[in-house]
Amino acid sequence: MNESRTILLVEDSRFFGTMVKRRIEQELDLGVVWLENHAETRKVLDGGEHEFMGALLDLTLPDAPNGEVVQTVLEHGIPVIIFTGGFSGEWRDRFLSWNIVDYILKDSPACVDTLISTLRRLRRNRKVTILVVDDSQSTGDAVAGLLQTHMYRTLRADDGREALEVVAEHPEIRMVITDYEMPNMNGFELVRALREQRDKDDLAIIGMSAADDPLLSARFIKSGASDFLAKPFQVEEFHCRVDHNVDLVEQIALIRDLSNRDHLTRLFNRRYLFDNADRFFRSVEAAGQSVCVSMIDIDHFKSVNDTYGHDAGDVVLRQVAELLTVAFAPGDMVCRFGGEEFCVLSAHGSAREAPARLESLRRSVERAVIPAGDDSIRVTASIGCCTEPDELDNMIKVADQRLYQAKETGRNKVVSG
Ligand code: GH3
Ligand code: MG
Ligand code: MG
Ligand code: MG
Repeated sequence: MNESRTILLVEDSRFFGTMVKRRIEQELDLGVVWLENHAETRKVLDGGEHEFMGALLDLTLPDAPNGEVVQTVLEHGIPVIIFTGGFSGEWRDRFLSWNIVDYILKDSPACVDTLISTLRRLRRNRKVTILVVDDSQSTGDAVAGLLQTHMYRTLRADDGREALEVVAEHPEIRMVITDYEMPNMNGFELVRALREQRDKDDLAIIGMSAADDPLLSARFIKSGASDFLAKPFQVEEFHCRVDHNVDLVEQIALIRDLSNRDHLTRLFNRRYLFDNADRFFRSVEAAGQSVCVSMIDIDHFKSVNDTYGHDAGDVVLRQVAELLTVAFAPGDMVCRFGGEEFCVLSAHGSAREAPARLESLRRSVERAVIPAGDDSIRVTASIGCCTEPDELDNMIKVADQRLYQAKETGRNKVVSG
């Protein structure tokens, strides 16, 4: 699926079309081009004026009573979801051979809810990576192919050992789907090894096997798998399991993110800083580096609010947060400590490195011209830092005293001891 934000809807029922169009626009914030027949659809697609993220197609149109519109749309490389009046085995087999994303039964008002969640998943799946582990090339490719019809990103490994390497290289992997019988390291061993690094909240694992041993599923689950699928499976069953397990890890990640980050700036919050400082100190030490604790406070911020309004103040806070994020390394902990005050735990290799980086941050804040409505706002920041190794609380205290010194001696400066 491309980056387009427009959905093609082909539906001849005014009632259903109106409802679907409105809900997609309102709930997903996507655009909808609604057409009522096959001829019009051909014309619009051949015209090439729009790029579509996906298409929702009614199977029975006045000028295409047997789903002819589906081929037309698939030929343009657009992912297709079909609306159909009722379930029939014969039609289902035909849908699956067409390589569509899904079919939705138009049998109750709730079908629009299903449609909305299917579209929401399609949009999300483009950012979700799944690793498929199977020693059989054809089975592995078939499973990856099914995932790709739902727009998941996929990676492949031939056995457990290779899978561990791929997971280590790709921390963004959200799910592993693994076969049982494989050379070097089998499915159970792989699941156990993965669980030593990543728990169920963070990585979903689905075990899969054709061997008709009824205890396989139990053993997969007891090894730490989130779920199990016996081969052969129905395509609908496969997608249902995958979607539910991805939903679960994504929702937990979202909740974690909401509780760890500040709502306005998206920086880590104070609680996250204290909960994760030990881990940060240990990893910096392990890398043979030292920790710098910095306290950063925007100067005369109250007057920004007083002059330009609170909303403009918020824009300034977000912009300064952005400058902070850019100024430090991705592994450093940049936090909003309170109002217009930030605390950063950063790693450095030499004593001179930390103050130099803070000085260049100070300059980037001073130079920034922040557009807020009709105004262009400029601010400065005062910074105190502590590089003398100690417990976090003491280092914060020292950095805070130096921040106070910076304020007392004219603001817009770095005091590093
Ligand atoms: P100093 O140079 O001494 O730091 O002066 P200051 O005005 O920056 O410091 P002071 O602590 O007196 O004022 C901080 C102001 O920050 C007051 C408060 O209303 C504002 N503030 C705190 N949180 C937010 C926020 O989330 N949004 C906005 N717009 N303002 C905030
Ligand atoms: Mg095998
Ligand atoms: Mg201030
Ligand atoms: Mg303050």
